[in-house]
Amino acid sequence: KLIAQQDAKIRENMSKIKHKIVILSGKGGVGKSTVTVNLAAVLNLMGKKVGVLDADIHGPNIPKMLGVENVQPMVGPGGIFPVTTKEGIKTMSIGYLLPDDKTPVIWRGPKVSGAIRQFLADVAWGELDYLLIDTPPGTGDEQLTIMQSIPDIDGAIIVTTPEEVSVLDVKKSITMAKMLNIPIIGIIENMSGFVCPHCNKVVDVFGRGGGEKAAKEFGVEFLGRIPLDIKAREASDKGIPMVLLDCKASEEFKKIVERIVE
Ligand code: ADP
Repeated sequence: KLIAQQDAKIRENMSKIKHKIVILSGKGGVGKSTVTVNLAAVLNLMGKKVGVLDADIHGPNIPKMLGVENVQPMVGPGGIFPVTTKEGIKTMSIGYLLPDDKTPVIWRGPKVSGAIRQFLADVAWGELDYLLIDTPPGTGDEQLTIMQSIPDIDGAIIVTTPEEVSVLDVKKSITMAKMLNIPIIGIIENMSGFVCPHCNKVVDVFGRGGGEKAAKEFGVEFLGRIPLDIKAREASDKGIPMVLLDCKASEEFKKIVERIVE
């Protein structure tokens, strides 16, 4: 009965959000959170109302990457209020609820799923154009909870690097989304080539084309490539989305967003 009540709350809360997009990857460190925060930043620049839910309970990075560390969400009878960035992006992460950045969350699956469902049901997201949901890598409890609890998800964006191990893992994410009837918006190949700051030649550190091959194999859209760009990483460490800077990665990312947003 409690679960049915919470389902009803999630339905009601999510019905005020026009688009819900989940960001997936098979492997960690491929740039999933980077894609999430930059997509949020571009949509925000376009004048859309945007929220970002960090569904990575064991490795919450969204607060740092959006430059909102050491902030606590307000809790009141209206629910938990999202923390808003200075640009106006609403965010929620377990990171806001931990005493410091060294404290790990040591929870088993059911507790992790419970926390995510609470973020969907009890966070006062209000009316939004987009809610972007960042997940941990893989095909576990977090992804399952998101895909099964949110009604009418627009779809999943899948992030990979070009090399074979990442592409291998990404195929599992695609299959999971298909099994759960979540449409796949497309695949992004990140860290696709590195522009040498000294000689300007492109070096394919992780190879090239793996993401595009997987997209063809599964009949899903290939959204584009983002090169490895030192400026992008430096910005991210400072909590600034790279799309706010002028750099190669930012340029390519903006082209990708045009393919995602109608
Ligand atoms: P994930 O969410 O998949 O674990 P992250 O988005 O946290 O991966 O990215 C891992 C690291 O790589 C971060 O430090 C991020 O700034 C950096 N990074 C991601 N994409 C790029 C890129 N295109 N160029 C340079 N650095 C990048």
